[in-house]
Amino acid sequence: MTTMRIGQGFDIHRFADDDRPLVLAGVRFAGERGLLGHSDADAVAHAVSDALLGAAGLGDIGQHFPDTDPQWKGADSMQILRAVVEKVRAAGWSIGNVDVNVVCERPKIAPHREAMQKNLAAALDAPASVKGRRAEQLGSIGRGEGIMCLAVALLTA
Ligand code: MG
Repeated sequence: MTTMRIGQGFDIHRFADDDRPLVLAGVRFAGERGLLGHSDADAVAHAVSDALLGAAGLGDIGQHFPDTDPQWKGADSMQILRAVVEKVRAAGWSIGNVDVNVVCERPKIAPHREAMQKNLAAALDAPASVKGRRAEQLGSIGRGEGIMCLAVALLTA
């Protein structure tokens, strides 16, 4: 019998005032405002990591990669995601698929969607889908103050 587990992940980052690059799912968005964060602030990689950890019952990203740890300062979050994938597999799980919503007024996600899906699928060795949504000018995300990401992951054993 196959055992299935679902996990959800959420992340939100505020736009930075300096000229750091915007990186989502390991894809650099040239000319777009970057996000504030201890690591590279890749909200997609963080939300997907949390969805996987949640599904496996392995806690959350903050527990495994604390933002107080200088080791993760400016870290490539796709590397964090790959480390999470290893932990999940070591616990006996296979990744079924991952689905992601990126919510922001800008940038437009669609032109980078393929590249983002490809990066995620390579890190997960499983299908990944990415969808971009606008917040219809509602709330902080709607005012363009940051980017929010929601992810679900399915695991099987
Ligand atoms: Mg984050």
